[in-house]
Amino acid sequence: MEKIGVLMTSPMSTYLEQELSSRFNLFKLWTQSCKSKFLQQNSSHIKAVVGDTKCGADSELIESLANLEIVASYSVGLDKINLDTCRDKGVRVTNTPDVLTDDVADLAVGLILAVLRRVCVGDEFIKCGKWKSCELALSSKFSGKSVGIVGLGRIGLAVAKRATAFGCPIGYHSRSQKSCANYKYYSNIIELATNCQILIVACSLTEETHHIINRKVIDALGRDGILINIGRGAHIDEPELVSALLEGRLAGAGLDVYENEPEVPEQLFGLDNVVLLPHVGSDTEETSKVMADLVIGNLVAHFSKKPLLTPVI
Ligand code: NAP
Repeated sequence: MEKIGVLMTSPMSTYLEQELSSRFNLFKLWTQSCKSKFLQQNSSHIKAVVGDTKCGADSELIESLANLEIVASYSVGLDKINLDTCRDKGVRVTNTPDVLTDDVADLAVGLILAVLRRVCVGDEFIKCGKWKSCELALSSKFSGKSVGIVGLGRIGLAVAKRATAFGCPIGYHSRSQKSCANYKYYSNIIELATNCQILIVACSLTEETHHIINRKVIDALGRDGILINIGRGAHIDEPELVSALLEGRLAGAGLDVYENEPEVPEQLFGLDNVVLLPHVGSDTEETSKVMADLVIGNLVAHFSKKPLLTPVI
């Protein structure tokens, strides 16, 4: 029997590629020099798209695949998938929730510690041989600082639990108050930013949350505040963040995500109160395998007419 055609949009994991090619007829979009010509010639064979945070499934891609049945995202975030077009065309959608939550929450704590305790500065201090001639300046304490979380979902809640273990009082902002959590709810993000010392962005990226961190929020967080972003780059108005850091209107930032990845504002490179990571929130050996297995499990379930493991649509 002919293998089902699956289109991968960008390189995600070697393991996922190998597993997909052993089960399906795998097409790799990023290896095509002319994508439109490739799609014209092969679209009728493609029944599934596997996308990720770099390249998902926009309406143009979905519309061009007449026999598309499912988009399986190698990510929990759905901002790179046009869900409305999927709904209109009856295309199923899956993502990878829960399995990456711990890693992303761990990294949020890592960024907080790296910024406040100046972990990267200390590392460079030794490696550049400076310890022999001078002392490192004092850093700031994490334990007990008030933490504000934007988006108390799976990842936000996991960050809250970790910060609680550091003795931090927790506040959060989301569209609705959560009954399960004993944390202080702020319906207004400015009030949350005014009342915390560390603000962590962990919500999903939608039209509503685009630039949810703007100049007003940054100024409410204030010159002693720390901003951590492990959500999506477009949550923050990046030029406003850069100017706040350059002008000393914010004490520091820890960023895993950026508005125009892999472009990162170069003005940040010289700031030792800023720690930058290349969108690696869930990138551990362990979690990338579980995410890949979930993508494959969803595709196998769909094509065997069984219930999807993690359906979105
Ligand atoms: P989730 O459980 O769906 O949580 C999303 C949260 O966003 C919910 O608490 C939701 O709260 C909140 N939210 C949605 N719209 C909002 C709005 N307009 N204002 C305020 N809050 C809003 O998702 P998750 O698994 O925690 O993942 C969250 C996000 O993390 C993903 O969407 C993804 O973008 C990002 N992420 C990043 C990495 C990385 O590598 N850095 C890895 C994984 C995920 P309400 O519904 O109550 O408003």
